[in-house]
Amino acid sequence: MKPIQEYIAQLNEPKSFAITHHYNADADALGSTLGLRFFLEKLGHTVTLISPNKNPAYLSWLPGYNEIVVFDETSDEVKNILKDVDAIFCLDFNIFHRTKHLAKTLEEFAGTKILMDHHLQPDEDSFDYGISIPAKSSTAEMVYDFIQLCQKEDLLDKQIASCLYIGAVADTGGFKYSNTAPSTLEMAAALMRTGIDISRIQERTFNTRSEGDLRLLGYILKDNMQLFPEHNAALITIPQDIYKKYNIQSGGTEGLVNYPLSIGNIIFSTFIVEKDGEVKMSLRSQGSLDISNIARTYFNGGGHRNASGGKSDESLEKTIETFKEVLDKHKKEINLCYKELQQSV
Ligand code: 5GP
Ligand code: MN
Repeated sequence: MKPIQEYIAQLNEPKSFAITHHYNADADALGSTLGLRFFLEKLGHTVTLISPNKNPAYLSWLPGYNEIVVFDETSDEVKNILKDVDAIFCLDFNIFHRTKHLAKTLEEFAGTKILMDHHLQPDEDSFDYGISIPAKSSTAEMVYDFIQLCQKEDLLDKQIASCLYIGAVADTGGFKYSNTAPSTLEMAAALMRTGIDISRIQERTFNTRSEGDLRLLGYILKDNMQLFPEHNAALITIPQDIYKKYNIQSGGTEGLVNYPLSIGNIIFSTFIVEKDGEVKMSLRSQGSLDISNIARTYFNGGGHRNASGGKSDESLEKTIETFKEVLDKHKKEINLCYKELQQSV
């Protein structure tokens, strides 16, 4: 993979681009790709945005949301579009299988493949050009950096800014998590100066939950969440029937994994969900506890030090058992990180 800087000269003549992101988009996946789309269009290029699967309704306010082509729904159309595309930008993931059914089409794509991502362990051999910075707050911030690298800050407008802003807000938990850097806040300031309404953007994203989503939160906190104080850990598990009972929509469980971390002695929270015959999990930690390692070693996953995900081929019950064994194995390490955190400010 060559540095993305070496591709920039090729933006001088009009090209046809596609942009894609990981399966089950979140705000950073959609915010960063839409932000890049509007920027590239302003440079005079033609851009198609491809989502691997249906996008969550809570992000439907994003400009351009309705023009996104969904691979799982129109795979033939996507394959046709890609025939005329010069290069495809891959954002917010770094290995093709994170796009699930779209992976094979990406592998077979004959044009240029460009990576822009902030996850650990990029599969660099799959890309022609790219940039991978795991320390970056969000892919949205990387798109902002890219605009600066192109020396085109003057092209920033409200449309681009609102997309990038929500991506950074979501991946930093509202500029709270340790991945928030001075550069993140500097970007936020620059985006704000375009005139975006940051309060309204957050309301439209986070204050549109359904009654079922909130009742689910009540049930989880009262009856579902298991605490393992000896391990400074917590576990939330959602079997398929709970989805039906609370009529949970796509994106409806977003953020639930974070709640247990607000308990004083909990620094490791895991959320395991059984949906459409699959067992998926989200892991979150605080401080130096690297749960991307746990996700990678035991649950076919990965991600960032403090926010990772994975999956299991086993039943929900068996996965929960495995999780408890993993907790025991890593008890010392987790306890040590907790002690360390107690001693920091
Ligand atoms: P989330 O829990 O919000 O789905 O994901 C948290 C982080 O872990 C994200 O940065 C995401 O990209 C990563 N992640 C989630 N699921 C998987 C997975 O199955 N494999 C890998 N490698 N990373 C994942
Ligand atoms: Mn991200």
